[in-house]
Amino acid sequence: MKKFNSINLPQKLVENLSLLGYETMTEIQEKAIPEILNSHDVIAQAKTGSGKTATFGIGILLQIDVKNFDPQALIICPTRELASQVTKELQRIARFIHNIKILNLTGGVGKKGQIHSLRYGAHIIVGTPGRLADHLRIKSLNLQTVKILVLDEADRMLDMGFIEVIEEIIARTPNEKQTLLFSATFDEKTKKLAKGILKNPIEVKVDSSHSPKIIKQQFFQTSQKNDTTKKLLHHYRPSSCLIFCNTKIQTEKVADVLYDEGFSVMAIHGDLEQKERDEVLLQFANGSFSILVATDVAARGLDIDDINVIINYDLPREKDVYTHRIGRTGRAGKEGISLSLFNRNDSFKIDEIRKKNEIEIIEIDSLEVKNLEILKPVNQTLCIDGGKKDKLSAGDILGAITKKLGIEGKYVGKIDIFRFKTYVAINQKVIDEVYEGLKNNPIKARNYRIWKMD
Ligand code: ADP
Ligand code: MG
Repeated sequence: MKKFNSINLPQKLVENLSLLGYETMTEIQEKAIPEILNSHDVIAQAKTGSGKTATFGIGILLQIDVKNFDPQALIICPTRELASQVTKELQRIARFIHNIKILNLTGGVGKKGQIHSLRYGAHIIVGTPGRLADHLRIKSLNLQTVKILVLDEADRMLDMGFIEVIEEIIARTPNEKQTLLFSATFDEKTKKLAKGILKNPIEVKVDSSHSPKIIKQQFFQTSQKNDTTKKLLHHYRPSSCLIFCNTKIQTEKVADVLYDEGFSVMAIHGDLEQKERDEVLLQFANGSFSILVATDVAARGLDIDDINVIINYDLPREKDVYTHRIGRTGRAGKEGISLSLFNRNDSFKIDEIRKKNEIEIIEIDSLEVKNLEILKPVNQTLCIDGGKKDKLSAGDILGAITKKLGIEGKYVGKIDIFRFKTYVAINQKVIDEVYEGLKNNPIKARNYRIWKMD
């Protein structure tokens, strides 16, 4: 594995990457970044979790002229969650560049604020197809100055039926530009799209199958999916588990069944309001509940490092989706387990999966359950009705909890600060103490409304 300073990158960038814990390049970064910096169009195919965002992120950032506030790069992503993750990752990587503006344009929030931000200018725009097209229609966005276009998770965008919108957006960018296409898989549809929009692309591919050493893939035949799911959860006792269903209704049903059994579980799907989705994802990521039941669209691109078990309650309709799903676990070299339920009619799907993966078929009866007690999540989330606009920082909150209340720092988990609100993960052992303490003590000389989320 090569270090970032082995290719010709500015020292400040390399130092910042090192602060982020990025010392060596991932395989896709090593192969694709030099091509991108040589101004080639690039098709990059690599499994989820392989560091594609930083690949195009670094490629883009080094080509931005900060003095010019017209949009110079456009990144199109399939979902809001993914776009927001890409924006955050770019902001982290871009910390070494003074005054760079990266703007997130997705649905779920009003257009007014976005229009306002666009007027002030942004170097890089990250967005979802629908909202980008909206802005083009009302002329709040002009893409004539774009030099680099990125299609992230191109295969998903096609699956989600975005082809026409994407073509509409691309038609509004100049002919002369660099185009980068990123995808975990590369099927016929994606090839066709690529052919239409990239010019003499360099193709970079890194091994797309997951190594069986890192993700254990077990299959269980069952006609009683709910019972089998419960048994798997009792057997494996994951602290963090993502369950996939093929429909929104099914996610709700499965979550209800598990909730009744006493599991700490929530469901997420596209019918929830953006705010609800964000809160569910945040609480899952900070360890406040342990099981998330999701549709593919809702879970897409989620970057939560510590998912130890994936359950395919339904086998996906398409085989490539299977690769995406299990890619949510076993990240960054950690071991993960994926458990898939199937019935007699699924043998065709299993044959397809088997072609690219090393799978085991296991009798559910052969699994022992030694302990029926349900593993409780480590944390619970406290919500504070103050945020960035009140100039609250993570340090202020950590200070209020550790210094004023005398709680050890190890009991304080992730702190997510937004404009008007802050979410703090607190170990269950001390949640009541912290809750009462913060209610009765000001933070930075002000009293905030505080409540426990569940
Ligand atoms: P992909 O888009 O390929 O699914 P991401 O870009 O979301 O993958 O990256 C997956 C994770 O790996 C992220 O948490 C990211 O911060 C981390 N990561 C990316 N590049 C490196 C690197 N060179 N060293 C260490 N971690 C990295
Ligand atoms: Mg990605």
